[in-house]
Amino acid sequence: MSFIHRISADNCHLTADQIGSKALSLCKMLAHGMNVPPAFVFETELFRLYENNRQLPESFMTDLRFTIQDIEIRSQKKFGDKDNPLYVSVRSGAAASMPGMMDSFLNIGMVEDNLKTSDEYKRYINFIKDYAALVHQIYLEELLEDSPEHGLEDKSVLQNMIKSYLACFEQQIGEVFPQDPFEQLRIAVITVLKSVHNRRAKTYRMLHDISKNEVATAVIIQQMVLGDMVGFSGSGVAVSRDPNTGQLPMMGEFVLHHQGEMLVGGAINPEKIALIKAHDTELFTTLEQHIAALEIIYEHPVEVEFTIENGTLWFLQVRPVKTSDEALVNFVVQMFEANHMTADKAIAHVPPKIIERFLHDSVDPDHKQPVLDTGVGASPGAACGQVVFTADDAIRYHAEGKKVILVRHETSPEDIYGMYAAAGILTARGGLTSHAAVAARGMGRVCVTAVKNIKIVALDGLMMVDKTRIRAGDIITIDGNTGRVFLGEVPLKQKKPSRAFYKLNQMAAKRARMAIRANVDSLAETDIALDFDMSGVGLYRTEYAFYKEEDINNIRRMVLAETIQERSEIADHMRTGQIMHYKNLFKKTRDLPIAVRLLDPPLHEFFPDNPRYLPELAQKLGLSESKLFQRLRDLKEYNPMLGVRGCRVGVLYPEIYIFQIKFILAAAIDIAKETGIYPNIEIMVPFIGFETEFQIIRQQILSTYESAKHEDAKLPPVKIGAVIELPRAALCADQIAKTADFLSFGTNDLTQTVIGISRDDSPRFMTDYMRKRIVPFDPFVKLDLSGVGMLIAIAVEKARKANPDIVIGLCGEHGADPECVDFCEMLGFDYVSCSVFRMFGARLSAAQARIKADANL
Ligand code: PEP
Ligand code: MG
Repeated sequence: MSFIHRISADNCHLTADQIGSKALSLCKMLAHGMNVPPAFVFETELFRLYENNRQLPESFMTDLRFTIQDIEIRSQKKFGDKDNPLYVSVRSGAAASMPGMMDSFLNIGMVEDNLKTSDEYKRYINFIKDYAALVHQIYLEELLEDSPEHGLEDKSVLQNMIKSYLACFEQQIGEVFPQDPFEQLRIAVITVLKSVHNRRAKTYRMLHDISKNEVATAVIIQQMVLGDMVGFSGSGVAVSRDPNTGQLPMMGEFVLHHQGEMLVGGAINPEKIALIKAHDTELFTTLEQHIAALEIIYEHPVEVEFTIENGTLWFLQVRPVKTSDEALVNFVVQMFEANHMTADKAIAHVPPKIIERFLHDSVDPDHKQPVLDTGVGASPGAACGQVVFTADDAIRYHAEGKKVILVRHETSPEDIYGMYAAAGILTARGGLTSHAAVAARGMGRVCVTAVKNIKIVALDGLMMVDKTRIRAGDIITIDGNTGRVFLGEVPLKQKKPSRAFYKLNQMAAKRARMAIRANVDSLAETDIALDFDMSGVGLYRTEYAFYKEEDINNIRRMVLAETIQERSEIADHMRTGQIMHYKNLFKKTRDLPIAVRLLDPPLHEFFPDNPRYLPELAQKLGLSESKLFQRLRDLKEYNPMLGVRGCRVGVLYPEIYIFQIKFILAAAIDIAKETGIYPNIEIMVPFIGFETEFQIIRQQILSTYESAKHEDAKLPPVKIGAVIELPRAALCADQIAKTADFLSFGTNDLTQTVIGISRDDSPRFMTDYMRKRIVPFDPFVKLDLSGVGMLIAIAVEKARKANPDIVIGLCGEHGADPECVDFCEMLGFDYVSCSVFRMFGARLSAAQARIKADANL
């Protein structure tokens, strides 16, 4: 059985698994009329046989001789010949490209007796050195310290060097350096096969997630073309465009009169590729044209290795080059605009996860500051500023024009105004879907949570990370992309989305079927979401209607009030401010759908968690300290995640929900009258567990609506729906759907309640869980399709059966997770909604999901 294939245009049908990506790239270049030195490839099956049997198959030497014969005929040179010698390279080539990680041999076929010129002598010395290093891991130049530095053009000096190298080889290895070219070739092939298991390759596979199945290599045997020849000769590496910006022209490096080894190994200083133009304009144009063609074939910027041998251009390798995010987006848009790529191809080519990074600053990768500690990168970007420990201080510093990082154990709605004022938020506890993270992402503030080693003594204005003490006013830098925290100011790189970024977004918007909505918590975020082309608001959390101190104190009074009469008096106080709040919101959203969620957090979250702040608060609220303590004790919950929160607030304290509904409706009437535009309001009822809860709250909304309509006929219609965040609600979705206009899956809470892992505590052990492979990823970041997803699928099917017209959306943070978006597309969701700055990624994912769905039709 034979394992060889000629590298030829006819073999483009072979797969990278069979012959490796490098050999396939050579076949493709030949198919496009490029000059490639004659070559053969031993397929990966040879590697597998060698692994299993610890020896090469019987047919190997016959294959090897056939290979060389064929290359001899095509190159018109002779292997081992003195006058017209053929030298070959032996290169590895895995299915997944691993540049430089496995071994390669050059100049196989050199024999001492055949050497004639100084160039050949030098090449032979390199050959001996490389062979000893690769085959025997012996580094001869380290042993031969007295190698001459001068006289290297002198043949006798070079001959003496060769003698020393050969003698040293024999002494170290105990055998003479092989002078039989076929023996050199056999050993080289075996060494390349073995190099699959070297440390470099293993580490590379681990770092790049290359699976065990891909652990194999093909072996390429190819005629050497010589950049160190006479005439116009040299070696170069070209990149089709700037890999940092994605802009043309082609760039690269070139060394005159040297083999590529010297360039790649960094042994000599290269020239700019434009040097070629000065020598041979026509050759340079050919090089440019071929490289431009390769970009189109690869649908990606490429890196090309080439050699010029006495005026002839030879291509040795092409591979997709690693680009910056910006370069990739510029590339696909330019390809689309030049009709080299369809819109679908361009959209499918960009990983959605890179899109978010366009909108945020990042830490300059060249900085040298050590990392103080690492937590969870909960909201992307990077920020540096002075440390403050309270929301009030954040506002005070901000008013003085200072940048601040708000440091808290964890945040709650009462911190929200301080979060706005801060450039970044750092919390000791929490995770990716904790309040701090969700709120910060919405506001576009940088956030790092779950920084385990920090100890905060806020009242003393101090935080400690191990032995480092950081006081209020000291500067720190936080990196929300990676979770790193640095002491002092670290230089930041500012991001500015390019024209191509917005163009790609436009293309994705056109292609996506699902609408992309935004979770907004403020007017400023609504403006940004409108700028980012939101199709509507998928979640407005009304707890953010109380972010001013006066409002939060009123809601505190409302919670503490003991009679309906008292509550309604407080509501009267709040009326004007609250209506104005919703009016400002509806003025911006106009007739776009806006899902307004009734109050959701457990009520204790409106109060400070540190008892030392309570006396001051009691004074502000006009209550006695003992009364405040008493009421807060009544409100205390053991598991507030599952206590009096969401619709339970509306069931147990109907006045709270009813005043919210009244204010929302009053604002809608005012807007309809003032602008003639009817706000498109969807009232969301959170944390439904029982369909009866939904009925009770729905009834509250309907009767409040009826009386408002009775008073003013200008009241626009409103839709009423449920947020599905509890397993029971998902399993009984048909019962809820019967009377609901829409269902929105709150996957943050649904993940927490389905898996039974609290979203705030999960970072304490999720990393360990991932390390132990109990879970493949953090389910608060990527939707757990087989568990939570399964439940969603059941709920959607049941809901649609009970109410075919029901609108279905998702408003958890998973709304920007590409796999979750794909899943929603499959289930026919109407929209996904996510934090404002994640909308671009979600839109690209939605377009990609649609493209995939159309391809599978
Ligand atoms: C959710 O639970 O997914 C949700 C959107 O609500 P929140 O994050 O406000 O709990
Ligand atoms: Mg929720």
